[in-house]
Amino acid sequence: MKQYKNTKINQGSQEERSEDHFNFFVDQFDDMRVLRYKLPGFESMSPGLKKYIYFLGRAALVGRDILWDQNFRYNLIIRKTIEAIINSYPGDRNSGEFRSFLVYAKKIFFANGIHHHYSSDKMLPGFSQVFFKELILESDSGLLPLEKGESREELVSKLVPVLFEPSLFSKKVELKAGVDLVAASSSNFYENVSQEEVEKYYSALTDNEDPRPVSLGLNSKVTKTDGLVTEEVYRSGGKYGPAIDQIIFWLEKAAQVAETQGQKEDLDILIRYYRTGDLKIWDEYNVSWAKNTVGMIDYINGFIENYEDPLGMKATWESVVEYTDVEATKKAEVITKNAQWFEDHSPIDPKYRKEKVTGVAARVINVAMLGGDCYPASPLGINLPNADWIRKEIGSKSVRLANIAEAHDVTSHNNGFLEEFAADPDEVARSRKYGSQADELHTDLHECVGHASGKLAENTDPNALRNYASALEESRADLFALYYMTDEKIVELGLLPDEEAGKASYDAYIRNGIISQLVRIKPGKTIEEAHMRCRALISRWAFEKGNEENVIELFRREGKSFVRINDYQSLRLLFGSLLKEIQRIKSEGDYEAGKNLIEKYGVAIDPVLHSEILERYERLKLAPYTGFVNPDLIPVFDVNGDMSDVVVKYPDDYLSQMMAYGRDNSFLSPFRN
Ligand code: ZN
Repeated sequence: MKQYKNTKINQGSQEERSEDHFNFFVDQFDDMRVLRYKLPGFESMSPGLKKYIYFLGRAALVGRDILWDQNFRYNLIIRKTIEAIINSYPGDRNSGEFRSFLVYAKKIFFANGIHHHYSSDKMLPGFSQVFFKELILESDSGLLPLEKGESREELVSKLVPVLFEPSLFSKKVELKAGVDLVAASSSNFYENVSQEEVEKYYSALTDNEDPRPVSLGLNSKVTKTDGLVTEEVYRSGGKYGPAIDQIIFWLEKAAQVAETQGQKEDLDILIRYYRTGDLKIWDEYNVSWAKNTVGMIDYINGFIENYEDPLGMKATWESVVEYTDVEATKKAEVITKNAQWFEDHSPIDPKYRKEKVTGVAARVINVAMLGGDCYPASPLGINLPNADWIRKEIGSKSVRLANIAEAHDVTSHNNGFLEEFAADPDEVARSRKYGSQADELHTDLHECVGHASGKLAENTDPNALRNYASALEESRADLFALYYMTDEKIVELGLLPDEEAGKASYDAYIRNGIISQLVRIKPGKTIEEAHMRCRALISRWAFEKGNEENVIELFRREGKSFVRINDYQSLRLLFGSLLKEIQRIKSEGDYEAGKNLIEKYGVAIDPVLHSEILERYERLKLAPYTGFVNPDLIPVFDVNGDMSDVVVKYPDDYLSQMMAYGRDNSFLSPFRN
């Protein structure tokens, strides 16, 4: 599971510099901005460690095409068309329409496809069909993705409706109740099959008695041929084989220079999994990886998160390479050491508490490379593996991405966002004083103990919550964190300086859940993304339940809406009782109750409030979504041609990195995968 924070949407567009004058800002267009992240301490690592990072970093980049194809089956053709135009269009590049084309290209690179990475809506071009036709007809046909015998005119006819027709492929992931979610979603996990057929197919394969079930359907596409439903498995020699072979190539190199024998063994299992696509081996790998906490360097690489599948089974490909931030990790370890205390005092039904919380390994890390579904939009926290039985028996590894958070924070100060949406100067002052550390602690609690807490009742189907599972799971982890943020134990453990700090986190959470996160939603839309649904659910539920006692107050001043918390202690108890209910829903697999909660509190938006918030936000001229360019890791060779070192360069152009990745890391045919 991943944690995205949009309490950090307050971004400045101007170039901002940290104390050591590192320039984080790279680019901004439409609702997106791009930053760089710093690799503190990389230079002083041993050449061996740097090489290990380098090889893992290559393995993080070469699977890029897989994600593009998973997101939508035309994405690779579209991307290659865009790349060909950028590389060869001979016309005027300063015209308004060409500049508009470049903005569109940047947005598509950002989203790894034509659907917005967060809202999942198709992003429509801001230039005309006539201009698009001109771009293709004047570009080099040797560079365009033309199928055998296909003319440029035919490519135009193929792509125009896909890009310009608003009702066609309008949504990547549809989660609306009451429709065929498979048919209504454009993500490329199913073809020629209905939701009902998919569900029937997998329910026949589900063994509810198995205490260690594999993550069914995780790494395959489901299709129907000759009336028969079948799975095409992602593996070497199978679906996405050419890209997977590249991943294997670099993982094998990494295994040769791994820091520890345990890391080498993990990589060997992962390679075996990529060769076979066998989900039993995937579990074997995850068990081994979760246990292995020795060493400075770690990574994720695989088909991991299922946010893009409307049925919550199929995972997109992603990778992160990371190294430990030793000082900050000491703090997170305090939480890990007290994990059992948190579990034992959690306000849930005692029968759903874990008797023994095992191995919640929490580290603070710096990212060295982002790939697949973590690039360019990066999470701020990651907790893996996802399989419930592994989490229960072995535990999980939790990380907070310190250098990513730093880039967010440094570029977010003093841009007016907080002042615009906070209820009063006290709240602003509290946020300035405690905001960053409260936020870090919330992420640590969410990842280290939140997701790891609780257990299922016997015989509960782990997939019972289906399309509501992600939002409910994020809610559970957030509520666990919120409940403890204002506990005196937190101050006692030295995790926060005083109780005011916990209040700052409640302020930010409620303000975001009810008011400020709406800036991310286009007018007329509802809330779709799991983390946003979670924050809306928690905040609005608490607002409604505390209404009589005025726990949270919604008020207007000078024509603007604000929220203020009047009673922090009561709010904490409300968080506790919602946590109890959501834990029950998860433990018992109560789909109906979960659905009702999300649909009632997590989806709809009051249009009047929404347009007011959008107007206020518009005036600040900020971009709500942040992505990152990766550093360039450049190998250095000695006189014998052996790699002796790796140096870091920080690129300053977003589009150039995207074009270079398209040139160097593309291994799939754009036509049929
Ligand atoms: Zn989470």
